[in-house]
Amino acid sequence: MLDQDATPKSKGQWIFRCGLKGLCPRCGKGPMFRKWLKLQDTCPTCGLNYNFAAPDDGPAFFSLCIVAFPLTFFAVWLQVAYEPPFWVHLLTSFPLLGIGCVVPLQYIKGWLVASQYVNKAQEAGTEKLWADLHARAERKGD
Ligand SMILES: [Zn+2]
Repeated sequence: MLDQDATPKSKGQWIFRCGLKGLCPRCGKGPMFRKWLKLQDTCPTCGLNYNFAAPDDGPAFFSLCIVAFPLTFFAVWLQVAYEPPFWVHLLTSFPLLGIGCVVPLQYIKGWLVASQYVNKAQEAGTEKLWADLHARAERKGD
């Protein structure tokens, strides 16, 4: 259970742990994800409602920044340093780029959702707006 008086450092560790393991940011026990990148509606252990979680394109963005740019740099370096034939890129850079962008998505999403919960990223006074947005999303069939 997250200690409400936790120091910023231990909050950071909590967020990191929940994100990495895909666990509920409130109880730290229930799984956060229903499918790979699909959040639960509520935590099966403590009943936390995941409506607050709206990381949107955050995971893809972070994944791009953390993974894609260094890998692109690697591909460019490979080209400049060794001038390999194009099929070398097909066998090295492209699979690395694909795997490298997709694999961390769940961790990054878990981390963003956990930090939203811990830091209460939802701005005060926007509850009604959020409720409307979620109601609209649910009508669309998710
Ligand atoms: Zn929970």
